[in-house]
Amino acid sequence: VTEQRALFIIFGGTGDLAKRKLYPALFNLYRKGFLKENFAVIGTARRPWTDEHFQEVVRDAIHAEGALLKDTSRFASHFYYQSHNVNDTEHYTTLRNLAEKLDQKYEIGGNRMFYLAMSPRFFGTIAKHLKSQKIVTAAGYNRVIIEKPFGRDFASAEELNEAIGRYFPEKDVFRIDHYLGKEMVQNILAVRFGNNLFRALWNNRYIDNIQITLSESLGVEERAGYYETAGALRDMVQNHILQIVSLLTMNMPASYSETDIRREKIYALKSLRKYTPEEVEKNFVRAQYKAANGQRGYREEEKIADDSSTETFVAGKLFVDNENFSGVPIYIRTGKRLSQKTSRIDIAFKAMPTNIFAPQRLGQNVLTINIEPEGKIFMQINVKKIGQGFTLKNSHLDFFPTSNGESTFPEAYEKLFADALAGDATNFTHWEEVAHSWKFVDTIRDTWDKQNDVLEEYPCGSMGPQASDKLLERDGCKWFYQG
Ligand code: NAD
Repeated sequence: VTEQRALFIIFGGTGDLAKRKLYPALFNLYRKGFLKENFAVIGTARRPWTDEHFQEVVRDAIHAEGALLKDTSRFASHFYYQSHNVNDTEHYTTLRNLAEKLDQKYEIGGNRMFYLAMSPRFFGTIAKHLKSQKIVTAAGYNRVIIEKPFGRDFASAEELNEAIGRYFPEKDVFRIDHYLGKEMVQNILAVRFGNNLFRALWNNRYIDNIQITLSESLGVEERAGYYETAGALRDMVQNHILQIVSLLTMNMPASYSETDIRREKIYALKSLRKYTPEEVEKNFVRAQYKAANGQRGYREEEKIADDSSTETFVAGKLFVDNENFSGVPIYIRTGKRLSQKTSRIDIAFKAMPTNIFAPQRLGQNVLTINIEPEGKIFMQINVKKIGQGFTLKNSHLDFFPTSNGESTFPEAYEKLFADALAGDATNFTHWEEVAHSWKFVDTIRDTWDKQNDVLEEYPCGSMGPQASDKLLERDGCKWFYQG
């Protein structure tokens, strides 16, 4: 563990994300020694809070108990609050003075981490003011961490990128996709490139199809305003799902390093097959949850239009046309109010070329990476049943990373903060990844926006509409995960 020195300036410091994710993540880094005495956090937002109140909010956000409580108070004493309207230039002068004072007090050496935990429409003006009001320092690094959504299509993402890029070079822009901070998502590269067994099989000669499911059991909850204008395609597919697709299909990087990994991910996303409108209709399904099992439908939710056509579920079949994966269907689905909250990847291998055990049937080999909730990897294989005769049975090899005496998984935000402090952007999305992902998603969105009658329905608590199952049945497949 290397101790890091940094001044964090969190825009949107009173917000939901800051309280639920950022403060607990920073506290864990403090407990583990990544942060010790030489750090400070300035929270900014419009509300007129005092430092004391802010520190209380931070302590509450951490939910520490017992012996940890003492640490919480020491930790929270590094937090300062500055009431700030991001559109007001004068406020940045006050912010600079506070930043300089804290930099000296905690001997931080000019390292600044700007976390933009607020609506992206403010990112441009914040970036501009950080530069013009000299809140960026010459002495240390100046990194901006940006939350999703990064635009709502390619054009707006490009505009946003330029607005930030005018003041911060790409190497200092850390675009968060918190899936990339999850242990089991990071395990994809470990499994693929750490085992010759899998490296050898990881291609269209041996893989029959890939299935990615990111399902949520919750409904739209408090984020209705945003969700209503975004929908599942923009909210989940453009970022999390396509990031997972890129990790699963990228070629082997020259080394495990930021530059080499990003290069291959960009290339994989660039190789996503672009669909014609007819192909979009054939290969993508969108749907909305309707009341069932005691839960109300999407259109009955607060702040949602009675005739909303926002999709809360997407399923699709896509292809990455690179050397190793062309021809392998990748089925994806994500949605709200599904039967279970789960994130998993199923990789189905092709059948044996001949079955010497016929008429016994051979089960399909499937490698599953369960990202959540269990966090495990398992592989279905055929083995002999104990006893006389020769009967086969389907069994599985299980691997639980947490059952080897290793501790529980760190939260994604904690890992990503640690990476950003170390200047390592491997697990953040490069602009070109964002750009290719949006271009792919835009084709689907454009087709949908031109038709009005293809929004399916699914009951709350199901695994989506029948059209999602049909998408696979057509190819002689089915979703391995049935909820
Ligand atoms: P929020 O509405 O809870 O918080 C927004 C913050 O911005 C508040 O602190 C508010 O005071 C501040 N703010 C708004 N206008 C301001 C202004 N003019 N000047 C200064 N401060 C202003 O939002 P959130 O849920 O914390 O989300 C923040 C960002 O993170 C959003 O872009 C959101 O899409 C993204 N995000 C949130 C989550 C989540 O789980 N909450 C997950 C992923 C991404």
